[in-house]
Amino acid sequence: METIQQRLDQVLHQIHSTESNYNRPPGSVTLLAVSKTWPLEDILQASAAGQTCFGENYVQEAVSKIDACPTKLEWHFIGRIQSNKSRDIATRFDWVHSVDSLKLARRLSEQRPKNLAPLNICLQVNISDEQSKSGLSPDTVIALARQVAELPNVKLRGLMAIPAASQDFEQQRAVFRQVRMLQQELIEQGLALDTLSMGMSADMAAAIAEGATIVRVGTAIFGQRRAQLA
Ligand SMILES: *Cc1c(COP(=O)(O)O)cnc(C)c1O
Repeated sequence: METIQQRLDQVLHQIHSTESNYNRPPGSVTLLAVSKTWPLEDILQASAAGQTCFGENYVQEAVSKIDACPTKLEWHFIGRIQSNKSRDIATRFDWVHSVDSLKLARRLSEQRPKNLAPLNICLQVNISDEQSKSGLSPDTVIALARQVAELPNVKLRGLMAIPAASQDFEQQRAVFRQVRMLQQELIEQGLALDTLSMGMSADMAAAIAEGATIVRVGTAIFGQRRAQLA
């Protein structure tokens, strides 16, 4: 059986070769290791192998790992946000990828401690997945992005997307391309955005081909999760 270190090496190798195949500058894609459901020991193994950014989906689970973690890591919240949990997110995380309302962005800005750097946030857009209720429709993103960009204690970095699963590489690319074009539109409106959070274990290459700057990878590093929590 392969170790976390070996799988991490393989994922990094795949990221680097995909960057080069699609003329992306070397190092332009950051790997976010999605550690939801996995114990702190697994995170520390990945950390010992050089991984610094970790993504979590469940606030309570994440906070207990963050509290117990002996080293300084960068924590990204990527799950659905219940408003009664926003304070934990605003105080414990460096990034939030799953912001989908002005109300939530305002709460995070208000709750972000002033002695910390602004909380980095991405707006989650729902491009292809009509089944899922999370994420903003593309036509509401522009107006919202302008308002979020004005908030004092958060820093709007870009867009995040979780497309409906597809096995077809060109179809995966087509959806990611729409996210990139929406981001381009926001940049043309004057917003300084540098982040496209898109691509998971199964569609990472298509996302990198279309400009992803953060890929969120769990299974390919830590293995198959036992329960597929929401
Ligand atoms: C679980 C999760 C991932 C990682 O998915 P894998 O298929 O395990 O790589 C990425 N992004 C989000 C938002 C997730 O919830």
